[in-house]
Amino acid sequence: MLTRHQTLSTLASLVAAALLAACATGPTPVPLNYIAPPAQPEAATGSSTKPGWATRSYAVAAANPLATDAGRQVLAAGGSAVDAAIAVQMVLALVEPQSSGIGGGAFLLHFDGKSTQAFDGRETAPAAATPALFLDDKGQPMKFTDAVVGGRSVGVPGAVAMLAQAHAQHGKLPWASLFQPAIALATQGFAVSPRMAALLAAEPHLKKDPVAAAYFYDAAGKPWPAGHVLRNPELAAVLQGIADRGPSALLQGEVGQAITRKVQGHPSNPGSLSTQDLAAYRPVVREPLCFDYRTTNAAAPGREVRICGMPPPSSGAIAIGQILGMLDSTPASNLPLAQGLPTADWLHLYTEAARLAFADRAQYLGDPAFVQAPGGTWTSLLNPTYLHSRAALIDSSPQGKSMQMALPGQPAGTPLSYASMPDQIEYGTSHISVVDAYGNAVAMTTTIEDAWGSRQMVNRGVGLAGGFLLNNQLTDFSFSPTGTDGRPVANRVEPGKRPRSSMSPTLVFDKTSGKLLMSGGSPGGALIIHFTAKTLYAKLHWGLNAQQAIDLPNFGSLNGPTLLEAGRFDAATVQALKTRGHTVLEVPMPSGLQAIERTAEGYFGGADPRREGIVLGD
Ligand code: GLU
Repeated sequence: MLTRHQTLSTLASLVAAALLAACATGPTPVPLNYIAPPAQPEAATGSSTKPGWATRSYAVAAANPLATDAGRQVLAAGGSAVDAAIAVQMVLALVEPQSSGIGGGAFLLHFDGKSTQAFDGRETAPAAATPALFLDDKGQPMKFTDAVVGGRSVGVPGAVAMLAQAHAQHGKLPWASLFQPAIALATQGFAVSPRMAALLAAEPHLKKDPVAAAYFYDAAGKPWPAGHVLRNPELAAVLQGIADRGPSALLQGEVGQAITRKVQGHPSNPGSLSTQDLAAYRPVVREPLCFDYRTTNAAAPGREVRICGMPPPSSGAIAIGQILGMLDSTPASNLPLAQGLPTADWLHLYTEAARLAFADRAQYLGDPAFVQAPGGTWTSLLNPTYLHSRAALIDSSPQGKSMQMALPGQPAGTPLSYASMPDQIEYGTSHISVVDAYGNAVAMTTTIEDAWGSRQMVNRGVGLAGGFLLNNQLTDFSFSPTGTDGRPVANRVEPGKRPRSSMSPTLVFDKTSGKLLMSGGSPGGALIIHFTAKTLYAKLHWGLNAQQAIDLPNFGSLNGPTLLEAGRFDAATVQALKTRGHTVLEVPMPSGLQAIERTAEGYFGGADPRREGIVLGD
C-alpha cells in the first residue's frame, strides 16, 4: 500500500517521465519536487473578520495596529506616503520582528501623482559568496533549516538604505522624526501580539541564539505570551543612531561591526558578510514593470488599467502579468463567482496559467545585473503574442484536463541558456500600503525572509537588552547552482548579487486618466504572486472591494499540485478539479494582504483577516 505521499510522488514521476519523453530535446523541465504542500513562510494563526475602512484624504494599511497608527500619526502631521512607510517599518521592526525590520530588505513602489518609481532595497550576497554556498560536503543542496539558521544565509540588509533614498526624494517630514514612534514604543514597551506569541511558541531555532533567547523568552526559557510588555532598549538606541546619522549608523561603525561579528562568529554555520560588504551597499531605483490590462467588471466594463509592479530581481510583477495575460486568452472572464467563490472551471484555467507562469519564472528570473532578460527585455515575457501562444497550451474545453506541470516557453524565440531552478521553500514578510493627502502612493513589501529570519539577533554589547534580527534572504537563491544537464541556474548565488524575490508590491492606475486606483501586496513566499493576483482579479473582474477581494479564499499552483486554502472550498469543487486531472492539496495559505483602493468619496482599505493588520486614515 502506498502512502499518500508516495502515490503523489509516483504520479509526479510518471508525469515528469512523459513530459521528458515528449520533449527530449526541449528545455529542462522543472523537477516536480513540491508535490508536498509548500511550507508556509509564517504559520496560520487564525482569522478575524475585518470590516474594511473608508477614509477621505489619506490612508495607511499595515500588518499591526501599532505600526498602522505610527503611519497615521505621520500622515496627520502632514507627512508624505514615504514618511509614513518609514515610521510604519520602524514600528514593525519592533512589534512584528518575525517578518521584517532593519536587518532585512524591501521593495517600495512610489507614485508621485505623475510617475512611478521602483525602489529596490533587496539584500546582496557578500563578495566572498560562491555558487556552492548552499551545497553540503557531498555537493548536495543543504536542508533548508541547516542553510537558514546561522550566518551563512545573511545578505546585506538593504531596507534602511532604500528608505533613506526614497525619503531624500519624496520625504516631507524630517527623517529623524519618523523614528520617534518606534523609539518611544521600544523604550516604553509594547504588548506582544497574539500572532507574535503564537509564532514564538512554534519556533524551535530562535532560542539557540543567546541574544534572542534573553529577549524573546523568560528566565525559565518559556516564550513570552500575548500581552506581555516587552521593551527593546538596544533597538531604541540603534534606531536613534539611524535617526541621527542615516543608514551609515546601521551599515558602518559599531552596528556594522556587530552585524559582521554575529555573522562571521556563528559557532556552527558562519557566513562571510564583511564590513566592506555592508559599506558597499547601494539601493537601486528601477523603472517599474508595468503592463496594460482590460477589466470586465460590470461596474466598469472594458476599462483599461495599467498595473505596475516590481521588476527583477522580483519575479512578482512578471508572473502576475503573465497569469492575467494568459487568462485573457481563455474563457475565464465569462466565469463569475458562484455563491461568492471561484468555480472549479475558473480555478482550472487560473492554475493552468499559473503553472505556465511559474515554469518561466524558474527558467528566466534573476538579478538583472547578472541575468540577461530573454530577447534583451523582461517585457518579452509579457508580450501579448507570446502569452497567447502559451495560453493555447491550456485545455479550455468544458472538461479540459490539467497539464499538471508546465515547461518553460521561449519568449522572443530565444534559445534557453539556463537550467530551470527547482522550486524550493520560500518563506516572514509584511506589506504596507499608503496614500497621502498630496496624491502620492506607496506599495512596499518588506522582509527578513523566513519567520524570524536567520534567527540571529544583533546587539552591540553595550549592556542594553534586545536588538534586531538578521535576514536569511540568501536562501532565496537556488541552492543548486546548475541543472542536471550542467547548465547554470539564472538565480544561482554569485558575489554581490540580489536573490530572486516573489514580492509583489503593486499599484493600479486608470489607463486613460493616469489616476491611482489601488495599492496592494502581500507576504507569503512564492504564493505572494497568487495572493496578489487574486486580489487584482477580484477587483478588476468580479467587482469586489478591497476587503472582499482580500477575504476571498486563496488558491494557486507553483507548477505542481493545485493548492486550495484549507476549509474554504466545497467538496464538489475539489472533486471537479480532481476529475480534470488536478492533484489537489488543501493547505493553510496565510496571506497577509493589505490594499487601499480609490472610491468616489476617497479611499477604502482592506486588511487580511488571516493576520493582525488594520487600516487607518482620515
Ligand atoms: N523572501 C521572499 C521573497 O522575497 C518573501 C518571503 C515571504 O513572503 O515570507 O520573495
